[in-house]
Amino acid sequence: MGVAEIRENLEQVRDRIAQAAVRAGRSPQEIRLVAVTKNVAADRIAQALDAGVEMFGENYVQEAREKRASLGRSSACWHMIGRLQSNKTRLAVDLFDVVETVDREKILRELDRHAGQVGKVVSVMIQVNLSGEPTKSGAEAERALGLIRHAATCENLRCVGLMTIPPVDDEPERARPFFARLRALRDGLRPLCPAGVQLDALSMGMSADFEVAVEEGATHVRIGTAIFGQRQRAQ
Ligand SMILES: *Cc1c(COP(=O)(O)O)cnc(C)c1O
Repeated sequence: MGVAEIRENLEQVRDRIAQAAVRAGRSPQEIRLVAVTKNVAADRIAQALDAGVEMFGENYVQEAREKRASLGRSSACWHMIGRLQSNKTRLAVDLFDVVETVDREKILRELDRHAGQVGKVVSVMIQVNLSGEPTKSGAEAERALGLIRHAATCENLRCVGLMTIPPVDDEPERARPFFARLRALRDGLRPLCPAGVQLDALSMGMSADFEVAVEEGATHVRIGTAIFGQRQRAQ
């Protein structure tokens, strides 16, 4: 797969995002595309950068570090979208601008501490587990406000929104209720947020269901396969 194919896939994805936005009476500009690069080699990430991608998502801190080392500097924004272990928070602060997968206070404390040490402000999203599947990471919805309040006390963190991953399903429509619930949760939490917290972001939707997510209010869609093709293997 070369740069032409990546460009073409990107164009199609952006087009589909725009159409879904218009269907929902939204402006396509409200939706950010996070290109998910787990298992994607650095040279293809470089091609995506050339093709104008501005946000990338990585699942594994170590993998992100290796690829970033060979990519060099760019103005791209990097999102951590995989489960974060507390012993990886220092590296995560170095590598990422946004951590989308905060689901416990310990992670907030550690991110804040390391961000303070390097003089960086890290944006965070609270990952919410709406399906109740115990194997899934993410905080229960009832715990989101507590985490937002805690984040608001962290000088070096900025809580910007919520993220969710619905249960795996072949039928995108079955993800819709989860997306709608995340939006309702955000809307309900907004008036309860501490002063200064702008709870705007809704990171939801992947290759199989991003159009449904956009219709339900996603501000960030995380898309891998539809841009880079099928991954070689899961890590
Ligand atoms: C892998 C992954 C994605 C992208 O999945 P695709 O189906 O390849 O688009 C999005 N979000 C998270 C959290 C992921 O792990």
